[in-house]
Amino acid sequence: MPQQRDLYEILGVPRTASQEELRKAYIKLAHKYHPDKTGGDKAGEEKLKEINAAYDILKNPEKRQQYDQFGTTDGQPFSQGPFSGFGGGFDAPFEDVFDMFFGQGPRRRGGARPGNDLEFHLNISLKDAAFGAKKKIRFHRQETCGDCKGSGAAAGSQPESCSQCRGTGQVRVAHGFFSVTRTCPQCRGAGRIVTKPCRSCHGAGHVKTIRELAVDVPAGVDTGSRLRVTGEGEPGAGGGPRGDLYILMEVTPHELFARDGTMLLCEVPITFYQAAMGDTIRVPTLDGEAELKIPPGTQPGTHLRLRGLGLPDLRGYRQGDLIVKILVETPARITRRQRDLLKEFEDNNDPRNYPLQQEFREKIRRSRE
Ligand SMILES: [Zn+2]
Ligand SMILES: [Zn+2]
Repeated sequence: MPQQRDLYEILGVPRTASQEELRKAYIKLAHKYHPDKTGGDKAGEEKLKEINAAYDILKNPEKRQQYDQFGTTDGQPFSQGPFSGFGGGFDAPFEDVFDMFFGQGPRRRGGARPGNDLEFHLNISLKDAAFGAKKKIRFHRQETCGDCKGSGAAAGSQPESCSQCRGTGQVRVAHGFFSVTRTCPQCRGAGRIVTKPCRSCHGAGHVKTIRELAVDVPAGVDTGSRLRVTGEGEPGAGGGPRGDLYILMEVTPHELFARDGTMLLCEVPITFYQAAMGDTIRVPTLDGEAELKIPPGTQPGTHLRLRGLGLPDLRGYRQGDLIVKILVETPARITRRQRDLLKEFEDNNDPRNYPLQQEFREKIRRSRE
């Protein structure tokens, strides 16, 4: 039985990693092994499946705990993941494990096989992430060839039974002391060979098409959110179901707002006059503006909260707040008259109105005792 790789090792994080660290490591790897980057090569695809499967378990605190404790979840560390094509779990028959080990995925003689899952990267704005959006996406997908109905054989001809495996799709090969069953190399497990290939698909049985899909992006998604669209992957074989489509979200950073979960943070500069006197100002929100009361005597760095103007959580239970961080801006230049006025202002200052400075002087005094 081949040893499954450690899930933490797959994501390159220590076992003590926080959920946020896990998420960040996952996003980084998912981008690195995305078909756009790897050119869709097989090794990259397998790696991506492995990463997705590992993250699928570790992102769920319950499953993660179970994995930490038992080294598995439900005895089937990978088969529960959305990329079910990866392997049959620990209880799979030897042939399947053997095939899985060599990266071919499980094949069952003559049985139905589900289609491959697909992944799509979708960039959305912070506003769309907050309010949800309908997005049209276009992606490449293999479809069963309509001309040969997937057989790969030209019209009027039939695929022939494979001579090497006599139609079983499997051959036995000596492997050390064992004789193991392997997928037939000549027909790649199909059991049949196409002698007169279909002209539309050149015998492959499937053709590359462009699929256009309207996707409902739910409010509250964040970078790293994965949206599953059931049955929009590639077609299955032998009557197997279609795979699924996974949409991996990436929220474009906003110029004004930083995001932390459901919370939005915006830094707003005001004058020291406004900070001292108090004011009501208009601050930007994701879809417009809101009024914000600045109390007299507001200090730089003060956080003022606008309730409900952040983002919703994905399940819609909660609406986050917009936090306005006050920056007090000292004028870059002043006129002669302003200088005189400020001088007069300073001369009339009462030290008791500066508690921070009083406290500071008190600390200095104490430290010298
Ligand atoms: Zn065809
Ligand atoms: Zn064969």
